Amino acid sequence: MGHDKERINLRENYFKEYYLEHSEEIKERSRKWRESHLEYARKRDREYASKNREHILNRCKQYYLKLKLEVLSHYGDKCVNCGVTDIRFLTIDHIHGGGTEHRKRVGMGSSFYQWLKRNSYPKGYQVLCFSCNLRRKKNA
Ligand SMILES: [Zn+2]
Repeated sequence: MGHDKERINLRENYFKEYYLEHSEEIKERSRKWRESHLEYARKRDREYASKNREHILNRCKQYYLKLKLEVLSHYGDKCVNCGVTDIRFLTIDHIHGGGTEHRKRVGMGSSFYQWLKRNSYPKGYQVLCFSCNLRRKKNA
């Protein structure tokens, strides 16, 4: 055991020392490579960033929509007031108010839906569309 650990330490030290000794050389080599492949390197960086940005955004969006659908399927999939069914316009509303205070504690959007899911969809919530939700807040 101790022997293996020692060997690993030795190997790590070897790489560290190698890198320290040759760090200028390594940096210089990658700088030179970049310089001679500047267009390619720039394009690669750009493509990598944009590809991943879309990938990450898509994953977030899909996750959010899936979660929202799941929550809505427990509370009803349309506005209780006007019957709108477009998921993009639907929100979960606190029947007895206090929503703003609660959202401050558990967060907005997906963290709120996650909280509902984690608490096995507690009672006291209803589905409202954005405009009915706004109207309700104004009248309250
Ligand atoms: Zn509505």
